Amino acid sequence: MYKIAVVGATGLVGQKMLEVLERKSIPFNELTLFTSARSANKEVVYQGKTYITEELTEEKANEKYDFVLMSAGGSTSLKFSPLFEQAGSIVIDNSSAYRMEEGIDLIVPEVNSPQLNRKIIANPNCSTIQSVVPLKPLQDKYGLKRVAYTTYQAVSGSGVAGRNDLINGAKGEAPKNYPHPIYNNVLPHIDVFLESGYTKEEQKMIDETKKILNLPDLKVTATCVRVPVQDSHSVAINVTLEQPATVQDLRHLFEQTEGVILIDDVANNEYPLAINTTGKDEVFVGRIREDDTLDNSFHIWCTADNLLKGAALNAVQILEQIHLNNHK
Ligand code: NAP
Repeated sequence: MYKIAVVGATGLVGQKMLEVLERKSIPFNELTLFTSARSANKEVVYQGKTYITEELTEEKANEKYDFVLMSAGGSTSLKFSPLFEQAGSIVIDNSSAYRMEEGIDLIVPEVNSPQLNRKIIANPNCSTIQSVVPLKPLQDKYGLKRVAYTTYQAVSGSGVAGRNDLINGAKGEAPKNYPHPIYNNVLPHIDVFLESGYTKEEQKMIDETKKILNLPDLKVTATCVRVPVQDSHSVAINVTLEQPATVQDLRHLFEQTEGVILIDDVANNEYPLAINTTGKDEVFVGRIREDDTLDNSFHIWCTADNLLKGAALNAVQILEQIHLNNHK
């Protein structure tokens, strides 16, 4: 039986983590719910038991847990994850703070598994997670040469604050989280701008794709866009393979890939849609067609629930992967 802590238990991702932990058969007998001082000392009923949220302090991070599911932003992670790690806890961190650090595992269980050289494991960027799940079987069968992403990301990717901007924007209120209204709008801007002209979100997709697939020389580019959708991210993936393949080959491969669901029947207007993806664990792909401007190239439309596969589910799957390895 494990002793588990969830940090950021009142956040959108933290709440989903509790939901996912409930339906996975992870054996635990102790659960601690950490928040900031703002939400401390509140009652949370979980699996019929009442828990009181606790403010995370340095002293509390010095205690050993089997697993800490950390979902409270980069600065909180930078401060507390090393303390949990020193105390012997395995930290699965949702923030971007450690993802590209040497020696830190960046894990999507369908694609790779942790080496555990460090006890901090990074959960990748949401749009990257859903994209590498269908890219992995293509890499294994045909090789990857180039990937170009365009994303259509839901407001819940910005947590409670993003969700509020869409809801309150519909009532005519000015945005508090985004630099412009998201209601009735499309923002070609996620996270901060870098000197290169790319945003940090775009750079995360580029860097993390290469690290997860273990292809440092893969050519990857990205444009990340926020759209007025509550939940579930969509990604248009343009991929160039090393070896020739047909649209039928790709469809067949995705039909056999664990964690992927193919919906590709355009004659009946069937393709992956954000609203049908929300609440589902799988990554959905469709609209597969050749890009005849480049050799061996295809367009793939890909949707997934950003709070589930893009965050909480993937984090709990990492925990499950370690749990199953420990009990082989
Ligand atoms: P959120 O809804 O704003 O929730 C943030 C949570 O962090 C709240 O529970 C908050 O507690 C807690 N928190 C803030 N400062 C803290 C501190 N100093 N100590 C302890 N807890 C603290 O955000 P979210 O969307 O759940 O995102 C959480 C993390 O997951 C972020 O790092 C985000 O980048 C990452 N992530 C999010 C998504 C997504 O789709 N939303 C996807 C991938 C990764 P209070 O209630 O006390 O404020």
